[in-house]
Amino acid sequence: MNSDSWLGDSDSGDLQETAIGCPYCGESITVLLNPEDVDLGYVEDCQVCCRPIEMSVSEGALGDLLVQVRTDSE
Ligand SMILES: [Zn+2]
Repeated sequence: MNSDSWLGDSDSGDLQETAIGCPYCGESITVLLNPEDVDLGYVEDCQVCCRPIEMSVSEGALGDLLVQVRTDSE
């Protein structure tokens, strides 16, 4: 594990900012996707309604990051 590239390097370009629609309230919110989270699931609270959104990150054909969202209650 490399620790020298952990958060803090604003010029790394590792994190991809993406807008998603909250599955609870439908509001559009912005999240940061980390390439290290590809094929992993994690939960992030909605910035609007504060409910837990289950996020699933995958890598697109162009090397960009895609995210699927769903409610945590399924
Ligand atoms: Zn919400």
